[in-house]
Amino acid sequence: EQILTQPATALPTLRAAVTGLPAYVPGRRSVGADIAALASNESHYGPLPAATAAVAEAAGRMNRYPDMAAVELRERIARHLGVTAEEVAVGPGSVGVLQQIITGLCDAGDEVVFAWRSFEAYPILAELAGARPVRVPLDDGEGHDLDAMAAAVTDRTRVILLCTPNNPTGVPISHRRLEAFLQSVRSDILVVIDEAYVEYADAGSGPDSLALYRRYPNVCILRTFSKAYGLAGLRVGYAITTAAIAEGLRRTALPFAVSALAQKAAIASLDAGEEMAARVSLVKQERSRMAAELEAQGWALQPSQGNFLWIRADGQLLATLVEAFDAAGILVRAYQGDGVRITVADPASNNRVLRLLAVHAPLPA
Ligand code: PMP
Repeated sequence: EQILTQPATALPTLRAAVTGLPAYVPGRRSVGADIAALASNESHYGPLPAATAAVAEAAGRMNRYPDMAAVELRERIARHLGVTAEEVAVGPGSVGVLQQIITGLCDAGDEVVFAWRSFEAYPILAELAGARPVRVPLDDGEGHDLDAMAAAVTDRTRVILLCTPNNPTGVPISHRRLEAFLQSVRSDILVVIDEAYVEYADAGSGPDSLALYRRYPNVCILRTFSKAYGLAGLRVGYAITTAAIAEGLRRTALPFAVSALAQKAAIASLDAGEEMAARVSLVKQERSRMAAELEAQGWALQPSQGNFLWIRADGQLLATLVEAFDAAGILVRAYQGDGVRITVADPASNNRVLRLLAVHAPLPA
């Protein structure tokens, strides 16, 4: 028998696009009762009881592959939003769907335009696809600078990512401004409206994305069950887009990426929409209470439409805040050079945040 010997010089290497990515630093998990997990904008209520029951019911069939086309879930989402199931693509979290979108539309060297700072996965997914991430700085109010974004478009631009309300600043894009933007960009560019936090937005604060989708077929709406619906750990999100793009996204998807448990839980969660809305309104009350108190403490905040608050800070102030939150056992998200994002949760955790920030509040001018 012939034994092939390899030249023993080189070892397998990763693509440069991969080695160039920032190292993945997992968020610290909450490990004790005294730790407040306010770093990931999760729901502090836990899953909706109907979702837990649906998962328990489906668990006995884990030996079977899930429905790869997720027909029942897509039909339920379609009914929820008044579109057809053909216009719905689901994936393992909205970040999974976004990966399908970017790899489905971008060739190497194509450009993905987005605001910065925004959701951290945007540049990573673009780089992974071999596309070029184009970051457009936020405006003075920490919202999207849509004029600058339109000006950043080139003939290589294939996808524009808009995040409303924006993670991490909480600032929404108004309907009027977004519509004017859509009128100004080429119709062959897919404009993704990432609405991961839309359930927390006050009515009328952000765009009527479905109305825009109906008028501008290059609009793609991205939503998730991870935030207000409380299913972050199950991984399920979706896009609303034309049937042709949705069908293409299903082709780029990893087979069976959305588990049967996740599909069942998502359907049960949509069925429990009123219960979700009641939870959301309590979070919004807490958001208002916290924002008012922080402003009274002297913090300058942008009004957040997400389930989080954004404290602008850099240099020494940021370092001090990071250390203080750490010492207090409160897990928050710090962004080097930019600020700290704090999830709005139960009143007791929120009060801990308020007490901590009172100590470090800027002195009144
Ligand atoms: N979009 C935005 C703006 C987010 O903040 C997140 C989660 N941090 C996601 C998408 C992805 O969430 P998931 O993959 O859990 O749906």
